[in-house]
Amino acid sequence: MENQIPPTLVQALKKHKYHIVGNHSAVKRCKWFYEALVNNRPCYKQKFYGIRSHQCIQMTPALFYCTQQCLFCWRAQNTDLKITWDEMKLPAWDAPESIVQGSLKAQEKILTGYKDHPKADWRKLREALTPKHVAISLTGEPTLYDPLGDLIHEFRNKGLTTFLVTNGTMPARLSKLSEEPTQLYVSVCAPNKEVFSRVCRPQISDAWERLNETLGLLRSFRCPTVIRTTLVRGLNMENVDEYAKLVEKAQPTYIEAKAYMHIGFSNLRLGFERMPEHKEVYDFASRLAEKTGYKVLDESAESRVVLLSRLEKPIRFRP
Ligand code: SF4
Ligand code: SF4
Repeated sequence: MENQIPPTLVQALKKHKYHIVGNHSAVKRCKWFYEALVNNRPCYKQKFYGIRSHQCIQMTPALFYCTQQCLFCWRAQNTDLKITWDEMKLPAWDAPESIVQGSLKAQEKILTGYKDHPKADWRKLREALTPKHVAISLTGEPTLYDPLGDLIHEFRNKGLTTFLVTNGTMPARLSKLSEEPTQLYVSVCAPNKEVFSRVCRPQISDAWERLNETLGLLRSFRCPTVIRTTLVRGLNMENVDEYAKLVEKAQPTYIEAKAYMHIGFSNLRLGFERMPEHKEVYDFASRLAEKTGYKVLDESAESRVVLLSRLEKPIRFRP
């Protein structure tokens, strides 16, 4: 299928430093990649799980496509740019091998920008030449990409671990995944259907039911699983009892409660005041811990995130 994506959107994404790969994938430098290389400040996933920020590729195989239009999402949505494209009209998919090659090349290109950076750490720069991890999460819903299991497999073949983040609206795809990621995240950003409709603005009628089906599937995964909740002040931080029931259904390895960040195109939909302080996130996480029996394992105040688990300590993927 020809690319029917409006040129305005492509231009906007390029302006926001998305490196477009093939017909529907992209890599973008994560803020923490920069912070790790230049200021020795890695992301919270390095702190929690040992994933090294300076060796991480942030990518998506579904740049233009999603089953939701979450208010807090940093990606460009139809109304943001006053253009329309059908986010559910899926293209002919590029092959996993070409996406992996293209992503590695894009990361290499991003890295060349740091060669002459006076403050870049040279040891880390050398290490960054060999990425070790992929966050399949940048934007869009990755489970819409049909050969997702093969993509994970290709990355693994190249020695990269993968953290996959899904909104959980494609349970059939998840249940048939030919290869599991290293860690699987499901976003749960509402305690009930009413809040879900208001905050996550699903584009398919049974999205809430599908999310619940996905939660029921989580226990069948061998990899560690995470329920991630993006918290928006005044929108989805109440009804902790109902969140606890969703956790009970999924029994994830972890829960990450994280503040909404006022960045990207979300600025056009939500005000700055919607961003909760770390202490509000911590309070929400503590109440959830009390209801679920999960323990507070760790936190990162600068990322406004709190990690809960039934484990005594998180599983680390690198020393
Ligand atoms: S794991 Fe996520 S936050 Fe950390 S460097 Fe990779 S993309 Fe950025
Ligand atoms: S599901 Fe993810 S990519 Fe889709 S709109 Fe929500 S936050 Fe954005």
